[in-house]
Amino acid sequence: MTGTAGGAAAPQRPDASGPTVADVLVLGGGPAGRALAAACAEAGLRTALADPAPERAWTATYCAWPEELPPHLPATTIATRPEAVAVLPGGGTRALGPYAVLDTAGLRAHLDARLAGVTVLPGRAAADDVRPDGHRYRVRLHVPGDRGGRIDGESSGTDDDGTSGGSSSGKGSSDTAPRNDATRVVDAALVVDATGAPSRLRPGPAGGTEQTAWGVVVDERAAAPMVRPGEAVFMDWRSPGPHRPGWTDWPTFLYAVPYGDGTVLLEETSLARRPGLPLPELRDRLTARLAAAGVTVPDGAPVERVRFPVDTPRGPRHPVGFGAATPLVHPATGFSVAPALGLAPRLAAELARYLPHDPAAATTAARRLLWPRSARAVHRLRRHGLRTVLEMPPDLVPDFFDAFFAGRSGRAFLTGRDDLTGTLAGMAGVFRAAPPAVRTRMLRSAAAFHPNGR
Ligand SMILES: Cc1cc2nc3c(=O)[nH]c(=O)nc-3n(C[C@H](O)[C@H](O)[C@H](O)COP(=O)(O)OP(=O)(O)OC[C@H]3O[C@@H](n4cnc5c(N)ncnc54)[C@H](O)[C@@H]3O)c2cc1C
Repeated sequence: MTGTAGGAAAPQRPDASGPTVADVLVLGGGPAGRALAAACAEAGLRTALADPAPERAWTATYCAWPEELPPHLPATTIATRPEAVAVLPGGGTRALGPYAVLDTAGLRAHLDARLAGVTVLPGRAAADDVRPDGHRYRVRLHVPGDRGGRIDGESSGTDDDGTSGGSSSGKGSSDTAPRNDATRVVDAALVVDATGAPSRLRPGPAGGTEQTAWGVVVDERAAAPMVRPGEAVFMDWRSPGPHRPGWTDWPTFLYAVPYGDGTVLLEETSLARRPGLPLPELRDRLTARLAAAGVTVPDGAPVERVRFPVDTPRGPRHPVGFGAATPLVHPATGFSVAPALGLAPRLAAELARYLPHDPAAATTAARRLLWPRSARAVHRLRRHGLRTVLEMPPDLVPDFFDAFFAGRSGRAFLTGRDDLTGTLAGMAGVFRAAPPAVRTRMLRSAAAFHPNGR
């Protein structure tokens, strides 16, 4: 994967010692960065993609609301399409409609197959490494140390973690491995920050609002008490069991999704908390919940650990933020993959209108596409929704979600990042369905809503 894979849009290296020259440099090779890099190359742009470990496999379970997925994703990218349900504290269920569980390896293979025209580079960059250079940008990439010597004509220097350049060889190194880094320079008209959440170019303060979860993968027959065939449980608000010493009073729910291969992910989830609920507590709650339901988890069952911020603020105009870094993350669910996949070709087409000749116009166009007035308004309302949940007394949170899932109005709040009407209707529907104590809290929170908040 590393190196230019050919194609008319491949970035150029003028000579062996010069920088890699690109129209677009995408930093970060997750779902968002890969989708955008592929789309940029397909739009005729010379595209480079940098990631500390470009060949590292993805392991997260990605799910989406199908209406947010781009229409022409091949079938190999979807593992299964269950019906989503929510389970209420008393055990009743509410139908939420169609859901999609992505095939993580299939999605990755699909995106990788489209990287033929992209130069994939091992390397990381921090904010200081992206420097204006006339109308363009010069980006210093720190190449993981086990990849070997000096590359692209810049002397190997001190890295962001204080190590100095050197040489070795190997592929797919971990970005946490001890490093003896080299540097590589990319000369790009425009740089995209797709380094995930939190953005590695704009690290936020510690202690923000995080989604955390602890999950295990079990046979679907073993999971039958928690999730029925053909269904995904988006939230099961039944108690995980009697409160144990050391647990917080923060409410958590079970998330249960089938992989379509006879196995199921059962995940104890804290939707959002500042700071994130510790993983050991989630693990203990899951163990208690499953034991009470008679679900046996075999020794060595695969585990999924989740921790990521859901309140990353929008960043500066440049580097252009994309994916979880920007944030396309829905503050109230943590979802961002489907919107990123959907926006990638549109953003690439917009960039291709102006690059390489007018990077400033391309940057402005990107901002316009990603954050039109309607999307900014929806984002503020979603963040307001998140704050409402965070401020809710813990014992009212399940009641809030009971109202949230009454009818279908909650779904409008979960999808449609620029659907202001749907989002407002969804919020109004939740308010109408809420019991008085929850309404009072919602009103209190609404009174503090600042329409110009980011
Ligand atoms: C376990 C888990 C489950 C999740 N489930 C869902 C889900 O079901 N649906 C959903 O929509 N979202 C889900 N999310 C949230 C979010 O959508 C994902 O985190 C998703 O991977 C974000 O995609 P991304 O490409 O924006 O960022 P990432 O996938 O985080 O990719 C960022 C990339 O940038 C690279 N990078 C890091 N630092 C640098 C640097 N300094 N320079 C260059 N590159 C760098 C990283 O190596 C990485 O490859 C989940 C998250 C987790 C952790």
